[in-house]
Amino acid sequence: MDPVAVLSLFSAITNIIIGIYVFLLNPKKITNRLFAILAVLITVFCIAEYSTRHSESAEMALFWGRLGYGILVFGSCLVAHFSTVFPRKYQNGKINFKSNNYLLISLYFVSIIVYSYFIVFSSIQDVKTSEWGYRLVLNDSTNLLIFWFLFCGLFAMGVFFHMYHKSNITTNEKEQIRLIGIGFLLVFIFTLGTNLVPPLFGISVFPMTLVSLTLFSFIVAYSMKKYSFMKLTTAETADAVVDTMVDSLIVVDQNENIVNVSKSTLNLLGYNKERLTGSSLKQVIKPSDLEKKEDILKRLLANDKLEDIEIELITKEGKSIPMNVSASTIRNKHGMLEGFVFVARDLTEAKIFIHQLEEAKTKLEDRVQERTAELEKSKQRIELQNIKLKKLDELRSNFLNITSHELRTPMASIKGYIQMLLKQILGDITEEQRRGLEVVLRNTNRLDGLIQDILDISRLESGTMKFVPEKTGIGKIVTESVETMQSAADLKNIRINADVKDRIPELVVDQERVKQVLINLIDNAIKFSPDGSVINVRTKRQGDDVLFEVQDFGRGIPKNKQKRIFETFYQVDSGMDRKFGGAGLGLSVSRGIILAHGGEIRVRSTLNKGSTFVFTLPIEPVQDIEGRFKEADIFRV
Ligand code: ADP
Repeated sequence: MDPVAVLSLFSAITNIIIGIYVFLLNPKKITNRLFAILAVLITVFCIAEYSTRHSESAEMALFWGRLGYGILVFGSCLVAHFSTVFPRKYQNGKINFKSNNYLLISLYFVSIIVYSYFIVFSSIQDVKTSEWGYRLVLNDSTNLLIFWFLFCGLFAMGVFFHMYHKSNITTNEKEQIRLIGIGFLLVFIFTLGTNLVPPLFGISVFPMTLVSLTLFSFIVAYSMKKYSFMKLTTAETADAVVDTMVDSLIVVDQNENIVNVSKSTLNLLGYNKERLTGSSLKQVIKPSDLEKKEDILKRLLANDKLEDIEIELITKEGKSIPMNVSASTIRNKHGMLEGFVFVARDLTEAKIFIHQLEEAKTKLEDRVQERTAELEKSKQRIELQNIKLKKLDELRSNFLNITSHELRTPMASIKGYIQMLLKQILGDITEEQRRGLEVVLRNTNRLDGLIQDILDISRLESGTMKFVPEKTGIGKIVTESVETMQSAADLKNIRINADVKDRIPELVVDQERVKQVLINLIDNAIKFSPDGSVINVRTKRQGDDVLFEVQDFGRGIPKNKQKRIFETFYQVDSGMDRKFGGAGLGLSVSRGIILAHGGEIRVRSTLNKGSTFVFTLPIEPVQDIEGRFKEADIFRV
């Protein structure tokens, strides 16, 4: 079969199919419509091409030939037209071809002139037979046709080229333009190369235009399908927006019939679009909320806009869904009501969350109540304990008062009589008796000291120790303390050096108590020093304090025990190791007395070399010694 015939028929059929396809893709779009017309023209061109070559008579060949060239003229114009409606961006940019109808009218007008000139004034009056069948005999007037063809082609290419290089073009648009540009270029080259230029030289070439036109159709259709955004209409945009909405949208007309819903609404309620559109709004509202709906519509008519309304919708399966709805009326430009639009948000999850929160809150409240009850019980218990403790405290002070009286009074009498015996007031005593009485006196003194310490510690602990502050010279305190301890020192042949610096101001302190501390420190020093050693007692001023030091060269205290010796009943030697008397109370009592006076007590000691006990007393008298004393936790060492 004749290849031109096959090609022509194939191209005709293909183009008409592509044309219809593109048209149906979106019949409302101007680009699709224009392309469809172009495809029809190409189809007719193919038929004309075929018919020219296969005409039975020269007249028929001439007719078909002229028709074919006519299509080339108008087709070129259509391509130019197509390029002007294509550039979506252009319509918002500088050149608005679409609205510039004069340009288009002029283009078509010029087409008519070109074609008329071509038909009437040119000498296409003849056909010749060639290898590929009949062909028109063209002369110089064809130049005008070529010029027109070139003009329209370059116009379209220019527009595409310009668009392609615009900065705000999207990648998809660029791709589309590139494909369409290639299509145009193919048609351009093949048409010039086979249908227009060769006949000028009397050459007949295989009509590749048909191939290029078909290819062009393919390419354009493909690009329109693949990047089919060309120009979104407002309606399309609105549809797209509606469908991408996460919230549910329901539009109803004034009769409350649903006219549009978003995909999200359909998913939520379980209907398909066809089922829902046209049906009444009532169908998707929970029956018990219908009255509420009436109320909403009434309020909406009055206000045109409502927000944050809660209403329950009902799904196809009958499940109710709590929604938060915003609504507004739709009115035409004359202000007449056309319908209502509802945007609803599913509250199910929010409700669950709130429910969980409420549960958690209730639990928390229960727990708080429980804890409060427990605390209340504890408080009561503590109050009870407090009462008990107070009673115990009272008991203890009574006990202490009684003990101090009942133990110390006989002790004083014993001591008095022993002393009288020793001084032989009650008669002569033998040497042996005297030594015995001295032992009794020493032990009575120890016993008295112990009772004194126990009483003191109790008073310190309970904060009932009495202090009588008075102005006192330091020298007096030191001398009297040393004198008191002199006989004990003599027994061990120990020398006590007392060094009191001049010009130390007088202190306002309870001198008996301070003496007690000093005596206790000297007593310990004697106790823990070897026979024949020395004890230094020094006082000096140090800043705002007076510093007292008792230094011995005895056995010293291990480093790790230096802090603990101030604890009540603590002794470095314990249990069986104990060789020295005492109850571990002296330092504890001393510390309490010094702290009460606003001073500090500490020890420096090296094992086997000796210890130095240091305490300070502030020169500025401390106010309210007893009060301070009660507040301070003096027994936490
Ligand atoms: P005690 O009545 O037992 O002496 P203290 O509270 O006065 O009680 O002393 C506590 C302990 O501190 C003593 O048992 C002793 O081990 C140690 N100690 C106190 N003073 C000295 C010192 N000058 N040299 C060595 N050890 C001492």
